[in-house]
Amino acid sequence: MKNGVIVTIDRQRRILENSSIAIEDGRIVEIGRTADLEKKLGAAEILDATGRIVMPGMVCGHTHLYGMLLRGASLKITPPIDFTQILQRIWWPMDEAMNFEDAYASALVASVEFAKSGVTTFADTYSGPNSIHGVLDHIARAVEEVGIRGFIGFEATERHSKEEGQRGVQENVRFAEKTRATANSKVRPLFSIHASFTVSDELITEVKKVANKYDAPITIHTSEGLVDVNHNLERYNKRTVERLHDIGLLGPNVALAHCVHLSDHEIDLIAQSKAGVVHNPMSNMLNAVGVAPVLGMLEKNVNVGLGNDGYIFDMFENMRATYLLHRVHHQDPNAIDAYTVLEMATINGAKLYGMENEIGSIELGKRADIIIIKPSILPTPLNANSVVGHLINTVDGDDVEHVLVEGRPIVKNKRLTTFDEESAQQISQESASKLWARLENVKPQMDSIRK
Ligand SMILES: [Zn+2]
Repeated sequence: MKNGVIVTIDRQRRILENSSIAIEDGRIVEIGRTADLEKKLGAAEILDATGRIVMPGMVCGHTHLYGMLLRGASLKITPPIDFTQILQRIWWPMDEAMNFEDAYASALVASVEFAKSGVTTFADTYSGPNSIHGVLDHIARAVEEVGIRGFIGFEATERHSKEEGQRGVQENVRFAEKTRATANSKVRPLFSIHASFTVSDELITEVKKVANKYDAPITIHTSEGLVDVNHNLERYNKRTVERLHDIGLLGPNVALAHCVHLSDHEIDLIAQSKAGVVHNPMSNMLNAVGVAPVLGMLEKNVNVGLGNDGYIFDMFENMRATYLLHRVHHQDPNAIDAYTVLEMATINGAKLYGMENEIGSIELGKRADIIIIKPSILPTPLNANSVVGHLINTVDGDDVEHVLVEGRPIVKNKRLTTFDEESAQQISQESASKLWARLENVKPQMDSIRK
């Protein structure tokens, strides 16, 4: 790759003009001035990035690939008035209706959209009480066909019964066991727990134990809505993070999704434990749950990554939402700077899943997960001073021209090279039509919060 404006996201926040990157065996082996590198490399295959932005592939720290199938659905339900009803009337009936075909179809089309918009790694949580055993193989197949990296997990919940929780945990164990032999695989296990208000202490303890055994990350929805906080205060006389801390869950391999409702004490507990947090601004706005105290967490050096929670898959939109939300929330135009938001979508996301030495920045020795962006309209010059502003204010996912994963171009000239995009959409549309028909007959899940 030559001649680009490279936003490295390294520790020094270096931005390099007229620079090139050499890749060998999937890793970055040289970064330097184009003239110097050209002499050295001779006739190697070269992507020309003149007038383009080069940055690390983005990391979506929390997603639900199957959320893709809800897009545009008009469900015949009484409109929910709060977060609990959103779960009871939309997400839980959807979970019930999901099958293996839907899991594959949604993972396929979501991976296509991620890849084409510059996301090279994501962490997915799948849920569906009628499609548990073996479902992660269906999702893994789709992710591998597209060629991006995914941490994938089944969301364990005891919403219906303890036995359901066990089946969820066992699916993650099965998948972790299966992938153990292929340590270099791009699809890796994630031990997912739904949320503290649908699981017992015993399940959380068990997940911590097995995840440690497989050296795999853990994720859990944490105080997304007030239902989580109130549940724990009423039953345990503790706030959510206090309960998770007391059970012994928190640690560097844990990614807490959302963390909208936190006390200062809870932020301290997260900081001390070195657990990470995934901020999902667009989903939080959609579900009207509140604004996560991201600035307070960053101040205490909590690692905060960025997710989409299965909603808008374009991470440029999610970055822009982060940039704007905290300004208006704090009524402070300097609340959060653009580079910090870029870090949240790249290196911080890599850190959430123990990948910071492999991906998340453009540095020597790292895996070459790199995206090249050509803004469709560039009203002002593109250089080292303007590029960060352009990334937050000008660029959309549609502007991503090339995407490399471990040096392999999975998107070239805005087209996926690994899987036929049209057939991916056809597979997903067929699955969605059938799913929507089944959803007509599914009742709201009213009794689903753990007593
Ligand atoms: Zn979620």
